[in-house]
Amino acid sequence: MSWDRQITIKTPQELELMRRAGEINAEALQAAADAAVPGASTMDLNEAAESVLKKYGVKSPFIGVMGAYPYPASTNVSINEELVHGIPSKRRKLAEGDIVSIDCGTIFEGFVADSAITVPVGEVSEQVKKLLEVTEQALYVGIEQMVVGNRVGDISAAIQRFVEDNGFCVVREYTGHGVGRSMHEGPAVPNYGQPGRGMLLRPGMTIALEPMVLIDSPETRVLADQWTVVSRNGLPTAHFEHTVAVTEQGPRILTQLKDGRNPKRKV
Ligand code: MG
Ligand code: MG
Repeated sequence: MSWDRQITIKTPQELELMRRAGEINAEALQAAADAAVPGASTMDLNEAAESVLKKYGVKSPFIGVMGAYPYPASTNVSINEELVHGIPSKRRKLAEGDIVSIDCGTIFEGFVADSAITVPVGEVSEQVKKLLEVTEQALYVGIEQMVVGNRVGDISAAIQRFVEDNGFCVVREYTGHGVGRSMHEGPAVPNYGQPGRGMLLRPGMTIALEPMVLIDSPETRVLADQWTVVSRNGLPTAHFEHTVAVTEQGPRILTQLKDGRNPKRKV
């Protein structure tokens, strides 16, 4: 990876811009979550998120990200076994019992926020409920480690231990990442690792932490569209993400709603 060595330290003013970006991003995720009803298409969720970005006159950094070809949408919308990078489509519809991950980014005054949630569509099985809870909690277990003086490995190891202690697996091929003027900066923050290893955390670092959790096996593959990542065993997967700043006062989540809540499916 070319981006993983480029670390940028943000000033308090820059963190404030990232927080504004994050607030808009959370509102976009909430709009997409509200649209996640049986029969809705993954494009409907993308459009719900985009309408929030449009309202604030901002864009998503996802558009045009280079892979095999430029990424064509503002969000990733990934259903069930789709772990990340699902491309929104009018033909792909949600059904009762599905889970859907929505990942969105916002650029506000040159700074990027990146966050994701996975929400149930109606009633889901007990195992899937647990998958969602464990993945979301793993994000906060990781955030707790984002304190000055800790190392990247402390975050990674805490996420891995929590997920594996709960009987699930963490992805190997995809990582969290630094974020700032670019969506992907250093350091890469894997969801597995060893405590005390890796880069030292310093005030002003901002990291998009994103546990990606699978059932029975961590193996993934990429579909023929060359973007969508799925579990190799076809079992459901979950993904939660926040953009978080390391500060002298402790970790500060930058991607919450104006009232300090996390975007969530209202039931
Ligand atoms: Mg993301
Ligand atoms: Mg990310």
